[in-house]
Amino acid sequence: MDKNENSDTQILKNNRIGIMGGTFDPVHYGHLFIAQTALSRLNLNKVLFIPAKIPPHKRKNIITDADKRVHMLNLAIESNPKFETSTIEIDRQKTSYTIDTVRELYQHHDEGTQFYFVMGSDAFKYIETWKEYKELFKIIEFIVMTRQILKNGSLDEKIKVLTKEHDAKIIKIEIPFLDISSTIIRKRVKEGEPIKYLLPESVEKYVFDKKLYID
Ligand code: ATP
Ligand code: MG
Repeated sequence: MDKNENSDTQILKNNRIGIMGGTFDPVHYGHLFIAQTALSRLNLNKVLFIPAKIPPHKRKNIITDADKRVHMLNLAIESNPKFETSTIEIDRQKTSYTIDTVRELYQHHDEGTQFYFVMGSDAFKYIETWKEYKELFKIIEFIVMTRQILKNGSLDEKIKVLTKEHDAKIIKIEIPFLDISSTIIRKRVKEGEPIKYLLPESVEKYVFDKKLYID
């Protein structure tokens, strides 16, 4: 390997991209905070926010139109040059499985790109119900942010077992609990309670302008 080849490899290896999957209905400071934490802790080059078209675990719920959820994401990330929205799952028009998304992302990125899936511990609890989750462990690393108080040691135990059985790469990051969820925001809007300071002001304004979540 000559000198140039070596430096090329170096550049490619430095492409570290975080993926934030979710419904984002609406996006709030909990999402932005875990994305920022992953970005700085793991020295990522950027974080892609990927709203699901049809989330497999929420098929029965009524979800806001994809274009509105994308618009809210764009408003929320506007001021951060390292955050991007990707419509890869929306464009697929089918149930949004992470394995399909990650495979597609690898096809569109340089060899040497490493993807990290950033998620809250509440979602990670059900990782074994995800389509082809064992395959997913082979191609992507997971960054799990503590979301709520889980039974003592249950998250650590789960990480230990999955690491051992599937050679999974899982990084746990403890964060101050932000007890914000999209469910809470939707409920508060419906009940006429304020949502200010739970999400960016531009998103709050959009929610009211478009009369989202009132029925
Ligand atoms: P909903 O209440 O509709 O389920 P949500 O607030 O949980 O919405 P999602 O779109 O379901 O948001 O979540 C996307 C990802 O962000 C998930 O991995 C989830 O665990 C994580 N996440 C959301 N809110 C927080 C938070 N406050 N702290 C840590 N992680 C969070
Ligand atoms: Mg959720």
